[in-house]
Amino acid sequence: MEKKRVLSAIQPTGDLHYGNYFGAISNWVKLQEKYECTYGVVDYHAMTMPYVPKKLRENTWDIVFSLLAVGVKAENLFIQSLVPEHAELSWIFNCFCSYGQLLRMTQFKDKSAKAAETDFISAGLLDYPVLQAADILIYRADYVPVGQDQKQHLELTRDIAQRFNKVVGKEYFVLPEILYTETPKILSTADPSRKMSKSAGEKHYISVFAEEARIRKQIRSAVTDMGEQPSGKMSPGVRNLFELLRAAGDPQGLYEELKSEYESGALRYVQLKDAVADALVALSKVFRECKAELLENKKEVKGAIKASSAEIRKRAQQTVREVKELAGLLNVKC
Ligand code: AMP
Repeated sequence: MEKKRVLSAIQPTGDLHYGNYFGAISNWVKLQEKYECTYGVVDYHAMTMPYVPKKLRENTWDIVFSLLAVGVKAENLFIQSLVPEHAELSWIFNCFCSYGQLLRMTQFKDKSAKAAETDFISAGLLDYPVLQAADILIYRADYVPVGQDQKQHLELTRDIAQRFNKVVGKEYFVLPEILYTETPKILSTADPSRKMSKSAGEKHYISVFAEEARIRKQIRSAVTDMGEQPSGKMSPGVRNLFELLRAAGDPQGLYEELKSEYESGALRYVQLKDAVADALVALSKVFRECKAELLENKKEVKGAIKASSAEIRKRAQQTVREVKELAGLLNVKC
């Protein structure tokens, strides 16, 4: 039986953090055992906010090494700008997507407020969920492992696929489904009212490659109680710490014990924080060592990713050929 297909992607906008890892990337790694997986570093997406060209290329390679260090296989990984068919399919999909629906995307509302600080909101920022639909559908993906923040974008992808199928009169695209981890939304430890994220600033994310001292400092200063909670309800900050402990594999087996101490009112938050910090420090040590090893073979690794991108591109080219045929466009004969 043919394996189901999985597609996901990440923007090269800086460090890989524990929100990315526990929310999505840990699933990318696991799913490789069972499915045909394709994972992208989507550099076209990183142009939608104000950016510096030289830094973009550096970040693209950096996130490639980071993904490999946490367990993504080189043969499953591609760089989006090495597969330009994504941009071509994205244009076609623009004509199958309603403008009003794009305006309703909450990520557009959040990010355009941020971009407005620089007096420039690119049309790309409004349009990038369409490029994301192309990223997913170009590989005819069945499943998309992402965090909860991507739910609305995935619904848009399904709408585009449905509209395309209807117009061309063929069930060409399958409608992809989201796959969540057990922790699809990791919160900022500094402000648990928002998700862990790079764009909010340094204190709002913990890098998966962070040194021990930094992890301990960030976890020690994690916000626990945020004012009055409805009676019997765990505060978001404390819940987030428990989720981090569970997601990190709870290496010392403390989760249940700390949970029952919390329930009996005997938990000192410093115990929970120490357990979380210990677990993250151990994980980050392994990740840092793997990345350092990969960086010693920079040239070979880059060569492998260029080769996997070229291989993956063949599948993208086939989809675009078929889509153009169905959409009434012309194909260049090779
Ligand atoms: P991005 O860094 O926005 O390109 O996101 C890469 C992946 O990480 C996407 O699948 C996101 O849904 C996921 N992700 C980002 N931040 C979080 C978070 N705080 N919690 C859970 N998943 C996240």
